[in-house]
Amino acid sequence: MTARVLVVDDIPANVRLLEAKLSAEYFHVQTASGGPEALAKIHDEPPDIVLLDVMMPEMDGFEVCRRMKQDPACAHVPVVMVTALDQPSDRIKGLDAGADDFLTKPVDDLSMFARVRSLVRMKSMFEELRMREETRQNLGLSDAALAVEPDPTGAILFVDDRPDLQVWIDTLANLGNEVTGISDFDAALRHTDGPSYDAVIVSISSQLFDGLRLVSEFRANPSLRNTPVIVLAAAGEHRKLAQALDLGANDYLRLPLDRSEFIVRVKTQLRKKRYTDLLRQNVRRGMEMALRDHLTGLFNRRYMSQHLETLLKCASAAKPISLLIVDIDYFNQVNNTYGHLAGDDVLRQFADRLVENIRGVDLACRYGGEEFVVVLSDTAPDVACLVGERLRRAVEKTTFPVEQASARVPVTVSIGVATSAGGDDSSSALLRRADQALYRAKREGRNRVIAQAA
Ligand code: GH3
Ligand code: MG
Ligand code: MG
Repeated sequence: MTARVLVVDDIPANVRLLEAKLSAEYFHVQTASGGPEALAKIHDEPPDIVLLDVMMPEMDGFEVCRRMKQDPACAHVPVVMVTALDQPSDRIKGLDAGADDFLTKPVDDLSMFARVRSLVRMKSMFEELRMREETRQNLGLSDAALAVEPDPTGAILFVDDRPDLQVWIDTLANLGNEVTGISDFDAALRHTDGPSYDAVIVSISSQLFDGLRLVSEFRANPSLRNTPVIVLAAAGEHRKLAQALDLGANDYLRLPLDRSEFIVRVKTQLRKKRYTDLLRQNVRRGMEMALRDHLTGLFNRRYMSQHLETLLKCASAAKPISLLIVDIDYFNQVNNTYGHLAGDDVLRQFADRLVENIRGVDLACRYGGEEFVVVLSDTAPDVACLVGERLRRAVEKTTFPVEQASARVPVTVSIGVATSAGGDDSSSALLRRADQALYRAKREGRNRVIAQAA
């Protein structure tokens, strides 16, 4: 993986050292020697990640980070603070400023590369989802706002064998989380394909179980694929930590745990999970909506054509597919008499009545303006005609109320019926035959059902 990294430090030797290390790993490195220069570069051309020195004369790293996070052009760019101080209070200050991680000088190479890769991976996933969301909004398919709760809680699995595990479980539980604590490796393995969690915390420091193996099992499980994994590692365990991050762990904490940092990190992961869940859900809904007609909520022509193809592949003489083309009679007059909005209202109610009069497995779609298609799987021609006749009567029997004109609109339909002939009958041939039948129904006086033989 390659990425553009901006290294910010006021001491040229530090810049050159990080630049050399990162370039050797094929990252594209840019540099800045102070806060203002860094902010200008980041704003003009946002990098994929920023390695930011904390102690700088003009403007310190905390302030640079804060300003970055307020600039919409680069608020999403991950920031790693590089600091000589390794005080928890500094970490809290950095997290408050919006930093995503910390590296302590002298920088350990393995942790740095793994950290940079993992943050860049996360950034590209966010960007992908955000772009899809943007497309969705441009297509007018957006409805749910992407609001994220300020202090999210969730179901957390905590795997650790420390004697004071319960204290940490209580810390999370007191914030409103539902925490499952496990200190037994085999039991934890069983949870890798058990219920879904919003976050998993695993110690990779245990002498009794292989935490890395758990991380890899959690990552391999589809139902936990989008669940953040936070690993706990002791001070000297750089290699293990780098492995955990390469296996897909999202974040880590050093042992012994600092209470405030622990809380902040878990909350951050839960918040990210909520946000990506919401984005994913919106993308799914957007795809679903792209297959539906906006006015009636029925499937659209594109979906119906595709679905009909699939059904025809499995159709046979014993299990034929029938098709109704339903066209509203003299609908132009409805528009002319009551107005176009009233016409829309009739179409919406008509769609509901259509759905009420077919089986759940049958597929109703809006084929065009006032033309609908119903696909009846496993249905012989005579039964299809009965369904058509029932529908015709249901439409004729009850007029359609329209608010706009405070009137009730009488509606009738003409219906053409065709049934698959087996063999290599195509969807276009089937639709053509139904259309011919519809044409006859219109010509013979409308408000009737006509079937076309194959
Ligand atoms: P026929 O009995 O021969 O089917 O007559 P018709 O008037 O129903 O058929 P025609 O094809 O002449 O007109 C269809 C009308 O449906 C014209 C068009 O403006 C109207 N229409 C199509 N889509 C919509 C829509 O989304 N909303 C409204 N209100 N009207 C629509
Ligand atoms: Mg400095
Ligand atoms: Mg019509």
